[in-house]
Amino acid sequence: MKKILSSLLIALCLLQLGSVWIPRAVSIKGRQYRNIAGIASAVNMRSRRIGKFFICSGASRNLRLELSHRRMYWNGMTVMLGYPVLLHNGGIYVSESDWQSTLKILFFPASVPRHPIGVITLDAGHGGNDQGAAGKYSLEKSITLKLTQRVAALLRACRYRVHLTRSSDTAVALKTRTAMQRARKSDLFVSIHVNAAKNKKVHGIETYCLTPAHAPSTNGKFELKRNPANRFDSNNFALARNLQYAMLVRTGAWDRGVKRARFAVLRDITSPGVLLEIGFISNPAEERKLNNPAYLEKLARGIAQGIIAYHRDLRPRR
Ligand SMILES: [Zn+2]
Repeated sequence: MKKILSSLLIALCLLQLGSVWIPRAVSIKGRQYRNIAGIASAVNMRSRRIGKFFICSGASRNLRLELSHRRMYWNGMTVMLGYPVLLHNGGIYVSESDWQSTLKILFFPASVPRHPIGVITLDAGHGGNDQGAAGKYSLEKSITLKLTQRVAALLRACRYRVHLTRSSDTAVALKTRTAMQRARKSDLFVSIHVNAAKNKKVHGIETYCLTPAHAPSTNGKFELKRNPANRFDSNNFALARNLQYAMLVRTGAWDRGVKRARFAVLRDITSPGVLLEIGFISNPAEERKLNNPAYLEKLARGIAQGIIAYHRDLRPRR
Protein backbone atom coordinates (compact mmCIF):
# COMPACT_ATOMS: atom_id res chain seq x y z
CA MET A 1 0.00 0.00 0.00
CA LYS A 2 2.82 2.35 0.99
CA LYS A 3 4.58 1.56 -2.28
CA ILE A 4 1.41 2.27 -4.31
CA LEU A 5 0.90 5.57 -2.48
CA SER A 6 4.49 6.68 -3.06
CA SER A 7 4.39 5.86 -6.79
CA LEU A 8 1.05 7.70 -7.02
CA LEU A 9 2.69 10.70 -5.34
CA ILE A 10 5.62 10.61 -7.77
CA ALA A 11 3.19 10.42 -10.73
CA LEU A 12 1.26 13.42 -9.38
CA CYS A 13 4.49 15.44 -9.16
CA LEU A 14 5.48 14.66 -12.73
CA LEU A 15 4.16 16.05 -15.98
CA GLN A 16 4.54 14.35 -19.32
CA LEU A 17 6.32 16.29 -22.10
CA GLY A 18 6.53 14.07 -25.16
CA SER A 19 7.79 10.76 -23.84
CA VAL A 20 9.59 12.38 -20.88
CA TRP A 21 8.10 12.87 -17.41
CA ILE A 22 9.32 16.05 -15.77
CA PRO A 23 8.70 17.50 -12.27
CA ARG A 24 5.54 19.58 -11.91
CA ALA A 25 5.63 23.22 -10.78
CA VAL A 26 5.62 23.84 -7.02
CA SER A 27 4.68 27.01 -5.16
CA ILE A 28 7.51 28.69 -3.21
CA LYS A 29 6.95 32.08 -1.53
CA GLY A 30 3.88 32.69 -3.71
CA ARG A 31 5.53 31.98 -7.06
CA GLN A 32 5.55 28.80 -9.18
CA TYR A 33 8.93 27.10 -9.66
CA ARG A 34 10.38 23.93 -11.20
CA ASN A 35 13.14 21.82 -9.71
CA ILE A 36 15.87 21.99 -12.32
CA ALA A 37 17.84 18.98 -11.06
CA GLY A 38 14.69 16.85 -11.45
CA ILE A 39 14.24 18.09 -15.02
CA ALA A 40 17.91 17.46 -15.85
CA SER A 41 17.75 13.90 -14.59
CA ALA A 42 14.49 13.30 -16.55
CA VAL A 43 16.35 14.19 -19.77
CA ASN A 44 19.46 12.17 -18.80
CA MET A 45 21.70 15.11 -17.94
CA ARG A 46 24.07 14.98 -14.98
CA SER A 47 23.84 17.91 -12.59
CA ARG A 48 26.10 19.24 -9.85
CA ARG A 49 26.63 22.40 -7.87
CA ILE A 50 30.05 24.09 -8.02
CA GLY A 51 30.19 27.17 -5.77
CA LYS A 52 27.68 29.73 -7.05
CA PHE A 53 26.96 27.71 -10.21
CA PHE A 54 24.60 24.81 -10.87
CA ILE A 55 25.68 22.84 -13.91
CA CYS A 56 23.71 20.28 -15.94
CA SER A 57 25.46 18.45 -18.75
CA GLY A 58 25.03 15.50 -21.09
CA ALA A 59 24.10 14.62 -24.68
CA SER A 60 26.21 17.54 -26.03
CA ARG A 61 24.16 20.04 -23.97
CA ASN A 62 25.46 22.18 -21.14
CA LEU A 63 23.41 24.41 -18.85
CA ARG A 64 25.10 26.66 -16.29
CA LEU A 65 22.84 28.55 -13.88
CA GLU A 66 24.13 31.23 -11.54
CA LEU A 67 22.42 30.86 -8.14
CA SER A 68 20.43 33.94 -7.02
CA HIS A 69 21.07 35.56 -10.43
CA ARG A 70 19.11 35.89 -13.67
CA ARG A 71 22.07 35.01 -15.92
CA MET A 72 22.44 31.53 -17.36
CA TYR A 73 24.51 29.94 -20.08
CA TRP A 74 23.32 27.34 -22.60
CA ASN A 75 26.19 25.67 -24.46
CA GLY A 76 28.27 28.70 -23.44
CA MET A 77 25.83 31.35 -24.77
CA THR A 78 24.33 33.87 -22.35
CA VAL A 79 20.57 33.93 -21.77
CA MET A 80 18.89 36.28 -19.29
CA LEU A 81 16.07 34.82 -17.19
CA GLY A 82 13.14 36.82 -15.82
CA TYR A 83 13.60 35.76 -12.19
CA PRO A 84 16.72 34.78 -10.18
CA VAL A 85 17.55 31.08 -9.84
CA LEU A 86 16.32 30.01 -6.40
CA LEU A 87 18.08 27.85 -3.81
CA HIS A 88 15.35 26.45 -1.55
CA ASN A 89 15.67 23.66 1.05
CA GLY A 90 18.76 22.35 -0.74
CA GLY A 91 16.99 22.24 -4.16
CA ILE A 92 17.70 24.49 -7.17
CA TYR A 93 14.61 26.04 -8.79
CA VAL A 94 13.79 28.16 -11.85
CA SER A 95 10.56 30.12 -12.10
CA GLU A 96 7.67 28.55 -14.01
CA SER A 97 7.71 31.58 -16.33
CA ASP A 98 11.39 30.96 -17.19
CA TRP A 99 10.74 27.25 -17.61
CA GLN A 100 7.86 27.81 -20.04
CA SER A 101 9.41 30.66 -22.03
CA THR A 102 13.08 29.67 -22.08
CA LEU A 103 14.34 26.43 -20.55
CA LYS A 104 11.60 24.18 -21.96
CA ILE A 105 12.52 25.36 -25.46
CA LEU A 106 16.19 24.55 -24.87
CA PHE A 107 15.49 21.13 -23.32
CA PHE A 108 12.69 20.26 -25.77
CA PRO A 109 13.19 22.14 -29.07
CA ALA A 110 10.37 20.10 -30.63
CA SER A 111 7.90 21.83 -28.25
CA VAL A 112 8.20 25.07 -30.29
CA PRO A 113 5.05 25.51 -32.43
CA ARG A 114 5.73 24.99 -36.15
CA HIS A 115 4.71 27.54 -38.77
CA PRO A 116 5.46 28.21 -42.44
CA ILE A 117 8.09 30.82 -43.31
CA GLY A 118 7.69 32.28 -46.77
CA VAL A 119 7.61 36.03 -46.15
CA ILE A 120 10.01 37.89 -43.86
CA THR A 121 9.90 41.56 -42.83
CA LEU A 122 13.30 43.13 -42.13
CA ASP A 123 13.29 46.42 -40.25
CA ALA A 124 16.30 48.74 -40.53
CA GLY A 125 16.25 50.79 -37.32
CA HIS A 126 15.76 54.61 -37.46
CA GLY A 127 16.16 56.66 -40.71
CA GLY A 128 15.66 60.20 -42.03
CA ASN A 129 15.73 62.79 -39.25
CA ASP A 130 15.83 59.98 -36.67
CA GLN A 131 19.52 59.14 -36.94
CA GLY A 132 19.63 56.68 -34.00
CA ALA A 133 22.92 56.36 -32.11
CA ALA A 134 25.90 58.36 -33.32
CA GLY A 135 29.53 57.29 -33.22
CA LYS A 136 32.63 59.39 -33.88
CA TYR A 137 32.13 59.36 -37.63
CA SER A 138 29.10 57.21 -38.44
CA LEU A 139 25.39 56.91 -37.72
CA GLU A 140 23.23 53.97 -36.66
CA LYS A 141 20.60 54.67 -39.37
CA SER A 142 23.15 54.20 -42.20
CA ILE A 143 24.71 51.02 -40.77
CA THR A 144 21.31 49.37 -40.17
CA LEU A 145 20.13 50.19 -43.72
CA LYS A 146 23.29 48.82 -45.35
CA LEU A 147 23.17 45.63 -43.28
CA THR A 148 19.43 45.07 -43.73
CA GLN A 149 19.70 45.37 -47.50
CA ARG A 150 22.49 42.80 -47.55
CA VAL A 151 20.52 40.37 -45.33
CA ALA A 152 17.53 40.81 -47.68
CA ALA A 153 19.69 39.91 -50.70
CA LEU A 154 21.02 36.78 -48.97
CA LEU A 155 17.53 35.62 -47.97
CA ARG A 156 16.08 36.34 -51.43
CA ALA A 157 18.85 34.19 -52.90
CA CYS A 158 17.47 31.40 -50.66
CA ARG A 159 13.97 31.94 -52.14
CA TYR A 160 12.39 33.82 -49.22
CA ARG A 161 10.13 36.77 -50.00
CA VAL A 162 11.56 39.72 -48.07
CA HIS A 163 9.88 43.04 -47.31
CA LEU A 164 11.74 46.02 -45.87
CA THR A 165 10.13 48.64 -43.63
CA ARG A 166 12.43 51.14 -45.34
CA SER A 167 14.85 50.87 -48.25
CA SER A 168 16.18 54.44 -48.19
CA ASP A 169 17.14 57.12 -45.67
CA THR A 170 13.58 57.95 -44.61
CA ALA A 171 11.87 58.28 -41.23
CA VAL A 172 9.31 55.56 -40.45
CA ALA A 173 7.21 55.67 -37.25
CA LEU A 174 7.49 52.63 -34.98
CA LYS A 175 3.78 51.85 -35.28
CA THR A 176 4.05 52.03 -39.08
CA ARG A 177 6.81 49.39 -38.96
CA THR A 178 4.64 46.90 -37.05
CA ALA A 179 1.62 47.83 -39.20
CA MET A 180 3.67 46.89 -42.27
CA GLN A 181 4.36 43.45 -40.83
CA ARG A 182 0.65 42.96 -40.13
CA ALA A 183 -0.49 44.25 -43.54
CA ARG A 184 1.94 42.01 -45.40
CA LYS A 185 1.11 39.08 -43.11
CA SER A 186 4.80 38.20 -42.97
CA ASP A 187 5.86 35.10 -41.05
CA LEU A 188 8.86 36.67 -39.25
CA PHE A 189 9.93 40.15 -38.20
CA VAL A 190 13.58 41.07 -37.56
CA SER A 191 14.49 44.59 -36.45
CA ILE A 192 18.16 45.61 -36.75
CA HIS A 193 19.76 48.23 -34.50
CA VAL A 194 23.16 49.51 -33.35
CA ASN A 195 23.82 50.02 -29.65
CA ALA A 196 25.48 52.87 -27.73
CA ALA A 197 26.60 53.38 -24.13
CA LYS A 198 28.17 56.17 -22.08
CA ASN A 199 31.00 53.80 -21.15
CA LYS A 200 33.05 53.54 -24.34
CA LYS A 201 34.49 50.18 -23.27
CA VAL A 202 31.11 48.43 -23.54
CA HIS A 203 30.89 46.27 -26.67
CA GLY A 204 29.25 43.14 -28.07
CA ILE A 205 26.06 41.76 -29.55
CA GLU A 206 22.69 41.22 -27.86
CA THR A 207 19.37 39.93 -29.14
CA TYR A 208 16.01 40.91 -27.67
CA CYS A 209 12.72 39.09 -27.81
CA LEU A 210 9.42 40.16 -26.24
CA THR A 211 9.21 39.71 -22.48
CA PRO A 212 6.81 36.85 -21.66
CA ALA A 213 3.42 37.91 -20.30
CA HIS A 214 3.46 38.77 -16.58
CA ALA A 215 7.28 38.56 -16.33
CA PRO A 216 9.86 41.32 -15.81
CA SER A 217 12.09 42.58 -18.64
CA THR A 218 15.89 42.21 -18.51
CA ASN A 219 16.40 45.93 -17.82
CA GLY A 220 14.56 45.49 -14.54
CA LYS A 221 11.18 46.95 -15.48
CA PHE A 222 8.39 45.08 -13.75
CA GLU A 223 5.62 46.15 -16.18
CA LEU A 224 3.92 42.78 -15.98
CA LYS A 225 1.73 43.13 -19.07
CA ARG A 226 0.48 40.88 -21.81
CA ASN A 227 1.13 42.00 -25.39
CA PRO A 228 -0.28 40.66 -28.69
CA ALA A 229 3.01 38.98 -29.71
CA ASN A 230 3.11 37.04 -26.42
CA ARG A 231 1.27 34.27 -28.19
CA PHE A 232 4.57 33.57 -29.96
CA ASP A 233 6.66 33.43 -26.74
CA SER A 234 8.28 30.07 -27.58
CA ASN A 235 8.96 31.02 -31.20
CA ASN A 236 10.27 34.47 -30.22
CA PHE A 237 12.86 32.89 -27.93
CA ALA A 238 13.78 30.13 -30.43
CA LEU A 239 14.33 32.78 -33.12
CA ALA A 240 16.36 35.02 -30.77
CA ARG A 241 18.60 32.19 -29.67
CA ASN A 242 19.29 31.06 -33.26
CA LEU A 243 20.11 34.60 -34.35
CA GLN A 244 22.35 35.44 -31.38
CA TYR A 245 24.25 32.17 -31.81
CA ALA A 246 24.75 32.56 -35.59
CA MET A 247 25.93 36.20 -35.28
CA LEU A 248 28.43 35.26 -32.56
CA VAL A 249 29.82 32.32 -34.53
CA ARG A 250 30.28 34.44 -37.68
CA THR A 251 31.79 37.52 -36.05
CA GLY A 252 33.50 36.27 -32.87
CA ALA A 253 31.97 39.32 -31.11
CA TRP A 254 31.44 39.51 -27.34
CA ASP A 255 28.24 37.76 -26.23
CA ARG A 256 25.89 40.06 -24.29
CA GLY A 257 23.14 37.47 -24.41
CA VAL A 258 19.54 36.87 -25.34
CA LYS A 259 17.49 39.43 -23.41
CA ARG A 260 13.84 40.43 -22.95
CA ALA A 261 12.14 43.76 -23.51
CA ARG A 262 8.71 45.13 -24.41
CA PHE A 263 10.02 47.24 -27.29
CA ALA A 264 7.27 48.86 -29.39
CA VAL A 265 8.36 46.96 -32.54
CA LEU A 266 8.13 43.61 -30.72
CA ARG A 267 4.74 44.11 -29.03
CA ASP A 268 2.23 44.50 -31.81
CA ILE A 269 3.42 42.14 -34.52
CA THR A 270 1.39 39.12 -35.61
CA SER A 271 4.40 36.85 -36.15
CA PRO A 272 7.45 35.80 -34.15
CA GLY A 273 9.99 38.63 -34.01
CA VAL A 274 13.27 39.84 -32.53
CA LEU A 275 15.33 43.01 -32.23
CA LEU A 276 19.08 42.71 -32.83
CA GLU A 277 21.65 45.06 -31.33
CA ILE A 278 24.61 44.26 -33.56
CA GLY A 279 27.34 46.19 -31.72
CA PHE A 280 28.22 49.44 -29.95
CA ILE A 281 28.88 52.48 -32.12
CA SER A 282 30.18 54.19 -28.96
CA ASN A 283 33.08 51.69 -28.73
CA PRO A 284 35.86 52.90 -31.11
CA ALA A 285 36.96 49.39 -32.16
CA GLU A 286 33.38 48.24 -32.73
CA GLU A 287 32.50 51.39 -34.69
CA ARG A 288 35.44 50.64 -37.00
CA LYS A 289 34.16 47.07 -37.48
CA LEU A 290 30.57 48.23 -38.15
CA ASN A 291 31.93 50.44 -40.93
CA ASN A 292 34.05 47.67 -42.42
CA PRO A 293 32.28 45.96 -45.38
CA ALA A 294 33.92 42.58 -44.63
CA TYR A 295 32.65 42.66 -41.01
CA LEU A 296 29.15 43.76 -42.10
CA GLU A 297 29.13 40.82 -44.53
CA LYS A 298 29.90 38.47 -41.62
CA LEU A 299 27.01 39.97 -39.67
CA ALA A 300 24.65 39.73 -42.67
CA ARG A 301 25.55 36.07 -43.20
CA GLY A 302 25.11 35.40 -39.47
CA ILE A 303 21.62 36.95 -39.49
CA ALA A 304 20.54 35.08 -42.64
CA GLN A 305 21.98 31.87 -41.23
CA GLY A 306 20.18 32.37 -37.90
CA ILE A 307 16.82 32.78 -39.68
CA ILE A 308 17.46 29.71 -41.84
CA ALA A 309 18.51 27.68 -38.75
CA TYR A 310 15.24 28.67 -37.02
CA HIS A 311 13.28 27.64 -40.13
CA ARG A 312 15.15 24.33 -40.36
CA ASP A 313 14.37 23.55 -36.68
CA LEU A 314 10.66 24.05 -37.39
CA ARG A 315 10.39 21.84 -40.46
CA PRO A 316 8.08 18.88 -39.98
CA ARG A 317 9.94 15.74 -38.93
CA ARG A 318 9.49 12.63 -41.03
ZN1 LIG B 1 18.36 51.86 -32.47
